[in-house]
Amino acid sequence: MNEPKYKRVMLKLSGESLAGTSGYGIDFNVAKRIAEEIKDLIDMGVEVGAVIGAGNIWRGREGSGMDRVTADNMGMLATCINALALQNSLEDLGIETRVQSAIEMREIAEPFIRRRAVRHLEKGRVVIFAAGSGNPYFTTDTAAALRAAEIDAECILLAKKVDGVYDMDPNIHPEAIKYDKLTYRQVIEQDLKVMDITAITLCKDNDIPIIVFGLDGEGNIVKAITGESNGTIIDG
Ligand code: UDP
Repeated sequence: MNEPKYKRVMLKLSGESLAGTSGYGIDFNVAKRIAEEIKDLIDMGVEVGAVIGAGNIWRGREGSGMDRVTADNMGMLATCINALALQNSLEDLGIETRVQSAIEMREIAEPFIRRRAVRHLEKGRVVIFAAGSGNPYFTTDTAAALRAAEIDAECILLAKKVDGVYDMDPNIHPEAIKYDKLTYRQVIEQDLKVMDITAITLCKDNDIPIIVFGLDGEGNIVKAITGESNGTIIDG
């Protein structure tokens, strides 16, 4: 097996990645598969932080007509449900895992404390950062960029349904072309649908490369960190 190119990474999983084919809720077979791949990273000596979205349970006020802040608070709480599910799957495999929440819920998760998170990582524990950034009007992509900067992660592993960044939506346009490499500026200027602009800007300002890859397919998380993935790298 090739050597990992990074020692400490931030894995960003969308909520939908936990949903399996139903597109909703949590498929524990999928959670187990993701946990097994994270275990492979831990076994390689990589320190893993993770941020998980909530699109499988709740995504803002989409179509509900709700108050934005209330809807976003619900989204952040939904990320906590996903975080606990992933923690459970990791611990089933014997991987020590801590959930740190941006919104205090001490009976369920530790509060986010940067130095403590780093200590957990150094001890080989997976740290799942739940409740996004703790603020409405943000996304979990931005939370991943923020926490990555805070814990000095060397890259963000951005797991997607598609296997990289394309010039058009490849599900609609089969002729879409995949980029091997992009700069942050290209992503922003071409309005490529990778992460929201706030998240990309945070990565740009803090020189955090983003490795975009498809989660479907065995061993793709490991391939992303050993440089064998055929996804897209965003940096420079
Ligand atoms: N959210 C928020 N602040 C944050 C992170 C998330 O308000 O810092 C809310 C927001 O409503 C968002 C929802 O949580 O739509 C779920 O997060 P996201 O859409 O990023 O999940 P994903 O698309 O990755 O599954």
